Amino acid sequence: MNSVNAILNFFAGLSTIEATFWLFVQNVLQFVMCVLGGHTILMLFRKRTIVEPPPALSNKQILLACLCVVLNTMVAVAGWFLWKRGIIQIKMNIDCFILVDMLILLVVMDFLMYVSHRIAHFSMIFPLIHSTHHLEEHPRPLSLFVLSPMEVFGYGSLWLVVIAVYHSSWLGIVLYLLLNATFGTLGHLGVEPFPKQWLSIPLLGHLTTSTFHAQHHTNGNENFGFYTDIWDRLFGTLSKTYRELFETAASKTVLDKGL
Ligand SMILES: [Zn+2]
Ligand SMILES: [Zn+2]
Repeated sequence: MNSVNAILNFFAGLSTIEATFWLFVQNVLQFVMCVLGGHTILMLFRKRTIVEPPPALSNKQILLACLCVVLNTMVAVAGWFLWKRGIIQIKMNIDCFILVDMLILLVVMDFLMYVSHRIAHFSMIFPLIHSTHHLEEHPRPLSLFVLSPMEVFGYGSLWLVVIAVYHSSWLGIVLYLLLNATFGTLGHLGVEPFPKQWLSIPLLGHLTTSTFHAQHHTNGNENFGFYTDIWDRLFGTLSKTYRELFETAASKTVLDKGL
């Protein structure tokens, strides 16, 4: 508790330039962890392909990913400003309610991101906001960061509004952000690390898999959810071939011959 107070007091006392520097460092670390972590899982499960491997990486993709890290930092700085002004309030408690906070943030963001993702696929809006991400027909870990600036600011603003309205504990926010990065990384592997039985596990089976989001990249009319498949099931946008494609990929061997 004291160390958390010390961290929050440290951030409260920073100038805008200092806060920008530290939030940029945090975003670069998150980027490195997602891409390196993603490639590590990709190497371990390289036999379990869902889609064809992606073509060689272009300079445009690398530039867009770097820009995304800078823009994510700007969103974080905006959040820091709102927190300093008291518009975003963070609770200090460390108790069982941190899990409630995490779950509320996860379900609320899951629903709002599903709705905004459906809207982003409207033909009038798609070329302006979301087409950049769909250049990545065969996802790779970096694809998580290949987004148009409008899309980064759109999702960033949505997140800031949610935490301005819902006063979460700091640990609830941290856990949600870790899960968000994990789901984002897993969704863009192009291979399936989840066990074959995953979809049959009660509740857990409704959390999205790598196959789930890879299918959205190959067919933009289905699988719009991010963390769960419940909104796709409710609104009839779940791919009819999701289970079959998942089980095909998850049934493949993990090990190389001779290992
Ligand atoms: Zn994607
Ligand atoms: Zn999409």
